[in-house]
Amino acid sequence: MYNKDIILCSGCSCALDLCISVLANPGQNILVPRPGFPLYRTLAEGLGIRTKFYDLKPEHGWEVDLEQLEAQIDDQTAAIVLNNPSNPCGSVFNREHLSAILQVAACNFVSIIADEIYDYFVFPGHEFHPLASLTNEVPILTCGGLTKRYLIPGWRMGGIVVHDRNEALAPEVRKGLQSLSQRIIGSSTILQGALNRILTQTPTEFFQSTIAQVYDNAQLAHQLLSGLTGMRPIMPSGAMYMMVGVDMANFPEFENDLQFVERMVTEESVFCLPGRCFDYPNYFRIVLTVPELQLREACHRISQFCMAHYVAPINLGKEEAMSDSHIHHELHNGIATVIEP
Ligand SMILES: *Cc1c(COP(=O)(O)O)cnc(C)c1O
Repeated sequence: MYNKDIILCSGCSCALDLCISVLANPGQNILVPRPGFPLYRTLAEGLGIRTKFYDLKPEHGWEVDLEQLEAQIDDQTAAIVLNNPSNPCGSVFNREHLSAILQVAACNFVSIIADEIYDYFVFPGHEFHPLASLTNEVPILTCGGLTKRYLIPGWRMGGIVVHDRNEALAPEVRKGLQSLSQRIIGSSTILQGALNRILTQTPTEFFQSTIAQVYDNAQLAHQLLSGLTGMRPIMPSGAMYMMVGVDMANFPEFENDLQFVERMVTEESVFCLPGRCFDYPNYFRIVLTVPELQLREACHRISQFCMAHYVAPINLGKEEAMSDSHIHHELHNGIATVIEP
């Protein structure tokens, strides 16, 4: 890896912006995950680049639907954006799955923008694999930064690492990234000076204790919400979030997940983002970085809200009731099995 392979940016958002700008021309498209971080679409649309979605499967640990991913690729597809570990899912892909995704990219000659802002932010029993470590073939622009793992969003320190071992990318890509980076206004130069020490001398206990706290919170929230009828929390494997499915049919007062979270903030002062922020209706997202007591209180209020508005289906037979408890039991064991009604 050479200096020319590393571009420092104003946060990871800026890194993503430069990567999308440099790989795709107006009129072309990039593939983005659904559910996924909404910034990809915002950035692309501002540049006249289309976004097409590939689906993640909640019942398989939010893994990519590979067939559907491949079907979305067309001759105007400039890149695939892959976010691992994921916001909003908290999923962490294993090596086999990442290799399978790389295979799809390789067969179709598509580059990947790897959003790894949550790199190494994984819970016990899971492992983070940098995407670029698994291929010599597929060109990868890895985006990352200090924002999340170092808990310093305001410091605006992020960057791109260009991985192109076979020199498959046009030479204009590196040059383009260089040129675009020179347009960054107010870059974080003081931080850039400190970067070497930040990266090499931050004690590992710092990361361990952060992850341990978020993991404890994930288990707590999952346990507290699993017992609720009408809710399907999906245990995350990393990052800072948990997605919770809502059986909207059991909450007929609300037309959609947006109304659901709006009323929850009005009545219980608990604020969650609705699934539609991530192009994924009938879910809401919980942030797991709050202090434990606050999280406990929030889950308590969510359950109150749930009980106040839940309406049992009229002909809920014994069988359905049983399969319902079966779902909760599986979720309880950390297996993210969601059986759609
Ligand atoms: C927070 C976040 C970013 C942006 O990070 P910044 O460094 O604050 O710009 C990018 N991607 C994902 C998935 C994020 O959650």
